[in-house]
Amino acid sequence: MTEVERHGYDVVVIGAGGAGLRAVIEARERGFSVAVVCKSLFGKAHTVMAEGGCAASMGNANERDNWEVHFRDTMRGGKFLNNWRMAELHAQEAPDRVWELETYGALFDRTADGRISQRNFGGHTYPRLAHVGDRTGLELIRTMQQKIVSLQQEDFAEHGDYEAKIKVFAECTVTELLTDDGRISGAFGYWRESGRFILFDAPAVVLATGGIGKSFKVTSNSWEYTGDGHALAMRAGAKLINMEFVQFHPTGMVWPPSVKGILVTEGVRGDGGVLKNTENERFMFSYVPDVFKGQYADSEEEADRWYTDQEANRRTPDLLPRDEVARAINSEVKEGRGSPHGGVFLDIASRLPAEEIKKRLPSMYHQFKELADVDITAEPMEVGPTCHYVMGGIEVDPDTAAASVPGLFAAGECSGGMHGSNRLGGNSLSDLLVFGRRAGLGAASYVDSLESRPAVSESDVDAAAKMALSPFDPPGGGTEENPYTLHTELQQSMNDLVGIIRKAEEIERALEKLADIKSRIGNVVVEGHRQFNPGWHLAVDLRNMLLVSECVARAALLRTESRGGHTRDDHPQMDSQWRNALLVCSTADDDPVAPAVEVSRKEQTPMRDDLIALFELTELEKYYTDPELASHPGRTD
Ligand code: FAD
Repeated sequence: MTEVERHGYDVVVIGAGGAGLRAVIEARERGFSVAVVCKSLFGKAHTVMAEGGCAASMGNANERDNWEVHFRDTMRGGKFLNNWRMAELHAQEAPDRVWELETYGALFDRTADGRISQRNFGGHTYPRLAHVGDRTGLELIRTMQQKIVSLQQEDFAEHGDYEAKIKVFAECTVTELLTDDGRISGAFGYWRESGRFILFDAPAVVLATGGIGKSFKVTSNSWEYTGDGHALAMRAGAKLINMEFVQFHPTGMVWPPSVKGILVTEGVRGDGGVLKNTENERFMFSYVPDVFKGQYADSEEEADRWYTDQEANRRTPDLLPRDEVARAINSEVKEGRGSPHGGVFLDIASRLPAEEIKKRLPSMYHQFKELADVDITAEPMEVGPTCHYVMGGIEVDPDTAAASVPGLFAAGECSGGMHGSNRLGGNSLSDLLVFGRRAGLGAASYVDSLESRPAVSESDVDAAAKMALSPFDPPGGGTEENPYTLHTELQQSMNDLVGIIRKAEEIERALEKLADIKSRIGNVVVEGHRQFNPGWHLAVDLRNMLLVSECVARAALLRTESRGGHTRDDHPQMDSQWRNALLVCSTADDDPVAPAVEVSRKEQTPMRDDLIALFELTELEKYYTDPELASHPGRTD
C-alpha cells in the first residue's frame, strides 16, 4: 500500500490562476469545502503575467459598446467556429464579473470622469479592455487572493479554523485524476519540495491548469504550461476539442536569445505603436484579408486619426486579430524585409512622448530595458510570433463547465470552445472570471445533487504512485533516456513542423517524431531522489506534453483548410465546409504512459436564430455554407 497524505474535500480545484481562484470563491460561497492545488507558488500563475487587460463591454470609453457587439467581435475573431453559447455567456456576463472584482478590492485605471478606463485591442470594435497599467493580471490575482483570505476569516469566525472551508496546497503537482465507476473520486499528486505523495478524496474536480505552450520551443508561456489539465482530463475519459488551434502571438521579443518569445503586449499597438519592416513601411495595410475588408483603415492618415476619433475613422490594421498579424509578420520576414534578428519592428518611440510610454506601459519599458537593454521610449522593438495560447481544450457544457466525465469541470485556458479558432486579446481574463465562476457553481451543484459519494480505490492509488515513480526505476530493456533531451526534441519538432505555418508532409514528420518519442518515453531515467528534483518533475510532465502534442498534430493534419490559429500552406483558404466541424480528441487505449489518440469529426449545434440575426447576411456568407443560411431572416424575408 502506498504511503500517502490524505485529505477530503467537496471540491478540488487544480490551478490557482484566474479561473481556479474564481471557481474556489464560488464553490465556497455555495457552502462547500474546497482545496486549491497549484504546482507553482500561490500567486504565481500565468494570469499574473497578463498585461493588456480584461475585455468587458462596459461602454465606458464608447457608449455604443454592448454585449452584442462584443459577441460579434468574439465570433469574428474565432472565425465563427466558437461555441456560440459560451461566447454569448461570456459577452453578457463579463461586465458584471469586472464590477464584482472591484467589490473584492480591485482598482482599475480610471477615465477622467472616474469610470473604469478601457483600452483598444486587436479585433475589438470599441476600447473594451479594463486594465491596471500593463499589470492587469496581477491585480486580478491579488484581488481574488484577498477575497479568499476574507472568506477564510469568515470561516475562522464561524469554525475557529481559517482553513475550515478553503485550503491552499501550493507547489503540489497533480499527476492523476481518479475515478470510481466512471465518476470522479479524487486526485493524486506529489509535493514538489519533498516528493511525498498526496491524495484528495473529492467527488468534484475543477481543472484550471492553463495552457500547453511548453510543447513549443519559442513561447511566451512559463514552465507550468505543460498541458497537465488537458492530459489529466483525457486520461480520465474526457474529450478535447479544437486542439489544432494554437495562437502564435505576433509580438514576442526576438532578441536577445535568452528572452526570445517573451511577450510584448498588444496594448503597445492599442496605445499607438505600429509595425514596420526594414523599409520603414507600415506593412499591415497590405495584409487586410477579404473577410475584414471595409472594417479597417486603408491609409496611415485614417489609421492615425482613429486613435483620437473612432466615430469618424476606421481602426488601424495593426490591430487586426492576432492570427492575421502573426501571418503578416511571418510573410514579411520570409520576403526578406525582416529585422536583423528575424522579426519586424514595433515602434512606439516615435509615436508617444517618453513619459507617456512609461506611464501607460511600465512593465514593457522595464522588460526591454532590463532584459534586452532596449529603451522603448527611444527606439523600436524587434518582435516576432511566439506560441502564446491554446484555443483547444477540454470539451465542456457551456452553462455548467461540466466535462463528459461526471464530477469533472474545467475553466480557463485548459477548456475549449469559447474562442473558436482564434482568441481575441483580453478575452482570456474575462473568460477566466465568467467560466471560473460557472465551473465553481457547476461543481457545487453537482456535489449538492449526489446521493452517494464515489470512493477512491487503493489499487488506483498504487498505480498512480507507481507511474509517478517509474522514472527512478524504468522497466529496462531499452536505451536510457534523458527527460531534457526528449523535451528539447519534442519542442523543436512542434515548433518547426506544427508551428505557425503547417503542411501535411511536415505534420506527418512531426507525428513520426512523436511516435519515436513515445517509444522512448518509457525508458526515461532520472537521477537522485524525490526531494526537489526538477529532472523528475519534467519526466512526469513530459507524458502530458506528448499526449497534447499528438492531439495538436493529429487534428492539424485532418483540418485541410486555414482558419484562425491553424494555417495550412497546402490548404491556404478558409473552407466553409469546415466551419461547423469540431475535431474531437480522445484516448483510444488504456496505455498508462502514452495512450493512443483518436480524432473524430463532430458537428456543432447550429447558432440560435436570435444570435445569428445579429450578423449581416453578407458577412455570414463569407463563412457559412448556403444550406446553413437558408433560415436567416435576410433570406426568408
Ligand atoms: P493560469 O493562470 O496559468 O493558472 C494555471 C494554474 O494551474 C497555475 O496555478 C499552475 O501552477 C496550475 N497547474 C498547472 N498544472 C498543474 C498540475 N498538474 N497540478 C497542480 N497545479 C497545476 N489574456 C488576456 O485576456 N489579457 C491579457 O492582457 C493577457 N496577457 C498575457 C500575457 C502573457 C505574457 C501571457 C503568457 C498570457 C496572457 N494572456 C492574456 C492570457 C492569459 O493570461 C491566460 O490565458 C490566463 O491567465 C490563463 O489563466 P488560467 O486560470 O486558465 O491558468
